[in-house]
Amino acid sequence: MSSTDKWVEYPKLFIGGAWVEPEDGGMLESIDPSTGRPWALVAYGGAKDIDKAVAAARKAFGPWSRMPGHERAALMRRFADLYRERAPELAVLETRDNGRALRESRVDIGGHATAYHWYASMADKNAGRTIPIDDSVHAFTTRVPVGVVGAITPWNVPMMAAMWKLGPALAAGCTVVLKPAEQTPVTSLELGKLFEQAGFPPGVVNIVPGYGKGGAGERLVQHPDVNKIAFTGEGTTAQSILRAGADTLKRFTFELGGKAPHIIFADADIEQALNAATGSAWALCGQSCALGSRVLVERPVYDQVVAEFSRRAKKVRVGMPLLESTHMGPQAHSEQLTKTLSYIDIGRNEGAELVAGGRRLSEGELARGYFIEPTVFANVRNDMRIAREEIFGPVAALIPFDGEDEAIAMANDSSYGLAAGLWTRDVGRSLRVSSRIEAGIVWVNTYRFIRWSTPYGGFKASGWGRENGLEGFDAYLETRTTVIST
Ligand code: NAD
Repeated sequence: MSSTDKWVEYPKLFIGGAWVEPEDGGMLESIDPSTGRPWALVAYGGAKDIDKAVAAARKAFGPWSRMPGHERAALMRRFADLYRERAPELAVLETRDNGRALRESRVDIGGHATAYHWYASMADKNAGRTIPIDDSVHAFTTRVPVGVVGAITPWNVPMMAAMWKLGPALAAGCTVVLKPAEQTPVTSLELGKLFEQAGFPPGVVNIVPGYGKGGAGERLVQHPDVNKIAFTGEGTTAQSILRAGADTLKRFTFELGGKAPHIIFADADIEQALNAATGSAWALCGQSCALGSRVLVERPVYDQVVAEFSRRAKKVRVGMPLLESTHMGPQAHSEQLTKTLSYIDIGRNEGAELVAGGRRLSEGELARGYFIEPTVFANVRNDMRIAREEIFGPVAALIPFDGEDEAIAMANDSSYGLAAGLWTRDVGRSLRVSSRIEAGIVWVNTYRFIRWSTPYGGFKASGWGRENGLEGFDAYLETRTTVIST
């Protein structure tokens, strides 16, 4: 970083309720993807820092798990209110870190305080069951927190991924070591300030940015005193995590990638379907697991949808992400830009028809950042790599189909199974098709409707377990059955 650049510094980790310098980590530069230059210098932890954080979380676990639920809830509500106050600033920081258009960060992060309140409301409703046996034997269950949780989050939605883990974990009575992605550590450290301000006991939440393989992430996974890893990221990383965690038989939840089919039947409200499908194709610059990147279109409306998709792609305002006028910012880091551009080449070489976009933007102030045009491929076949592999860029693959059976077969012909969209005016069809889709969430005549109360997670290679909803809360609890003979 040159001496003339303005930057911010986060020189300490949040461990055991205190801000401490890394012991065997160091300082990393967080790159602003709209300029390609560092904008923040941030402390990261190594194995020793993780050991300290886990020890602090373990020490805090007993008192935190035994604290009456309504008291835990009160602390969480205080945190949620502080989060609400700081949300506008957190949105700006997240946009600096990962380049997402500020208008998107604002909507996403603006909703998190409500979600934290919802999780807080779960803290004292953690009831078990009584199980009828006979007059002399009485059985009941209690639900107890899993223990110390290692939360490992990705760079595309750092605050959302953290909230999906911290909310239920804290409500359940678990303590947490949060390790955000090395590309986007800033907002997670900001959370530490809010937990401190809210009066959380030391060690209940610890925040240690760091690297994955060979770094803080791997140590967290291997640590014998961590009971569960809650992970959001790539499938190949999840496989490494499973191997590294196998010796300690931890619990895992995995929120992984997707290649969601967005199915548009000819009888749909095409205008609404197009709004959702195009909006979802470019959201977060294409860097979200649930985006409908495979758009399956019934043949009678295929040409109309292709024409309109490409017209709208050309109207997307790509620009500096902090500007209010910007619809789509840059890719979050240079490797992702390279990956997306390489898939555009793959699509061309596979014989798909490029009908919009396809270029890196290098005009004016965009030249140094990782900007790319919204890209649309038509006449894609479902066996092409651009239809099968997660690109994680603003690249839509439009595939024609004939009839319900072919739509379902194509939708399910994927190693992924996170989400699907379905557009039709026929109620019977919506039930028939949605019930046969292999995906953790199916949106009918809407898309990317995600709430704290609706379970979210994947079938097949898209993950294990669920976040959000009662299922997401259960994922932080063990069931103890007590049987008493009288
Ligand atoms: P990634 O797997 O590269 O990294 C995610 C996190 O894992 C980072 O914090 C990283 O430091 C850490 N990590 C990497 N290797 C590790 C290891 N060996 N041990 C422990 N930790 C390790 O993923 P990413 O590139 O940051 O995120 C993009 C991926 O996340 C995409 O596949 C996307 O679909 C997925 N995602 C899924 C959801 C969902 O809810 N299903 C949400 C957002 C993102």
